Order: sequence, then C-alpha cells, then structure tokens
Amino acid sequence: MHRLVLLPLFLIVASCAPTERAATAPDPASPAVAATEAADEQVRNLIILIGDGVGTAYWTAARFKTGRLHVERMPVAGLTDTRSSDSYVTDSAAGATVYATGQRTYNGAIGVGDRCAEMFAADSAAVMQDPASCDPLEGIFDIAYRAGIATGLVASSSITHATPAAFGAKVPYRRHQAEIAEQMAENPIDVLLGGGRGFFDGTLRDDGRDLWTPLCREAVCLTTPTEFDAYQVDDRRLVGLFAENHMEAADERRPTLLEMTRVALERLERNPAGFFVMIEGSQPDWRGHANDPLPDVVSEMVDFDETVGVALDFAERTPGTLVLVVADHETGGLALQMEADTLTAAYTTGGHTASMTPHFAWGPGAERFSGIRDNDEIGRMLIDIARRRARVAR
Ligand SMILES: [Zn+2]
Repeated sequence: MHRLVLLPLFLIVASCAPTERAATAPDPASPAVAATEAADEQVRNLIILIGDGVGTAYWTAARFKTGRLHVERMPVAGLTDTRSSDSYVTDSAAGATVYATGQRTYNGAIGVGDRCAEMFAADSAAVMQDPASCDPLEGIFDIAYRAGIATGLVASSSITHATPAAFGAKVPYRRHQAEIAEQMAENPIDVLLGGGRGFFDGTLRDDGRDLWTPLCREAVCLTTPTEFDAYQVDDRRLVGLFAENHMEAADERRPTLLEMTRVALERLERNPAGFFVMIEGSQPDWRGHANDPLPDVVSEMVDFDETVGVALDFAERTPGTLVLVVADHETGGLALQMEADTLTAAYTTGGHTASMTPHFAWGPGAERFSGIRDNDEIGRMLIDIARRRARVAR
C-alpha cells in the first residue's frame, strides 16, 4: 500500500495483565432473564454506533458547543470498562472485536482470539495463507449472514480500518488491510460506506489484485459525492468508498457520516428479516492522538452526535430497533480547562487511556445496558440479541 499515507504507529502501551473480575452467572429461571429474552425477541434491527476514542470530555465539549445533544434523547446510560485481554489500555482492533464477538482479545486482533497471536508468532506465512481461520471468533455479522439478516458498515475512516474491520473480517493484526478488504468483498455485507477504495483497487494495491471490478459487477459502486447524491436505493449491495484511504475531517467530509448513515439505513431497512449495522465516528480518536485544539474535537463530535440523531429518528419510526452508542476507548486523556475565559483542551498523552467511557442505549431491552459494564459483557449481550433475532428471522 505504498501509495497510501500510513498512519503513524500508535503507541504500544506497556503490557499489563488486567485482572478479570469474577462473573456471576444469571439464574436462567429468574424473571429478569425472562424479561431480557422477551426484549431480545422484539429486536429486529440493531444499530451500533462506535465513537472511536470518545470519552466523557469529548461529549462534554460537544454539549458546551450545542447546548443539547441527540445522545441525551437516549434514556439509558452507563460506563464501559474498555480493557483488552492483554492490557488495561485497549486499541481500536481489540476494542471493536469485543463488541463484534463478545470476547476480549489482544491489542491488534481483528475478529480473532488470543490463540491467533501465538499461531502467527509460530508460523506467520502459514497463518496468512488463510488468515480467517486463525482462532476465528463468531461475531454478530456471522450470525446475520446465516440467518438472512442484512449487515452494514459505515465509517469516516477507511472501511478496512480497525473498527469496521473487526465486524467484517478476521485477521491476526489490523495492519493486514489487504486481506481485510478481500474478506469484506467476499462476505455478504450489504452496505459498505466510507473510505479505503485503495485497498480494493488493483492499480493501488501492492499485489495488484483487483477486487473492485468483480465486486462492482454485483454491487452498486459509488466513488464521488455526486454519485452518492444521485444514488437510488435498490436491493443490490451498496459499496460507496469515497477516498483511497481515510475520508477528510468532519468540516471537509463529503458525503458526511450523517448522510452515509441515512442512506445505509434506507438500504438496509428493505430487508424483511431486519439488519445489524455498525456506524463509526472514526476521527475523534485522531484529534485526540494529535492533541488537536478543542474546536477540531468538537466538529468531529457534533458530526457523530448528529449521526446518533439520524439513528434515533429511524428507531422512533421503526419499532424493534435497538440503538447502542459506545466507545472503544478514550484517547488523549482529554480534559477541559479554562484559559483566559476560553474553554481549551488539555491532554495527558498522545495515545489511548484506560479511563471508562460512556455508553447509551435506546429501544427494546435498553435498560439492561445501564450501569458499569465490561466491554465483553456488552458484546455478549449483543451476541445474545443476534442469536435470538436469528432464530426468529429464520
Ligand atoms: Zn486510536
């Protein structure tokens, strides 16, 4: 991928083994479990919004700017413990895999479990012959494919970047973006919207392999904002990749995350068996890594919050839709301070932090997400919802 700009390698945090707290298994005969199961049966559509790097201060800054946030329409809130299997500080790969599969894994892992790191270390060439077989974890998208439930990914980064990749692919490490693109083209994902065309286009890939032409024989493919605006929704796969790698920052981005989300929902709701979609506000994380001034953080957050608003508007008019807003981790250790009558950003790091992040829920069974939750606990609840939905949809 020499023609694409590579992101600087994120800080690798010194390994520390988090202690797992003892899980208490719920009594299957309890009224609470029965109520949860009843709520799961009502879930037809699942909308997961991941704000990459979005900790409490990110929401606070957006709230000071707009007065009131769309996310405040969500009646249930809680805090997420975001650690991975090998560190208190997670990365976006493990941080998304846990929501896609319900299992904590090592930093860098895309949809695969701890054993994959050992397999890759022992014989990386053998693993890369078939990376999807490297300790694969069953994810909510795998459940959806088998049950005829539609799936979609929307991101303001490359669609092959860690967060969407964890839902749509399985590889040992997030840097395996060529293989991620191959799996995303092969898996029956109904909607892919974001950046990352360079990982599909044979003239831009290092190996010259052209994924784009065969993909666009079955899918409607869009590459420009003009084509996006002219798109008329139909039942074909929709692949809109509007940048070779990542999309622009919020103020320059066309189409916006909000517009892509609106179109994704319009396409996905055509499926009678319902849908699961993951929508990522990818770039608050990058503002945090760069320790950018507060207005740059706020513009990404307003874009993300307006996207949450689109999801809630859809859920309000579409019974059986569960909306969940989460973060994979906090970035930058962002704090808000006053400097000469101006609110400014202060940071503690250029990397991620271990701080808990806020999450919000709206829809059938939303209340189960309240309180302090481990990220794998949230992921397992999503897997349960997906399995029950699959049984009903079949
Ligand atoms: Zn990051």
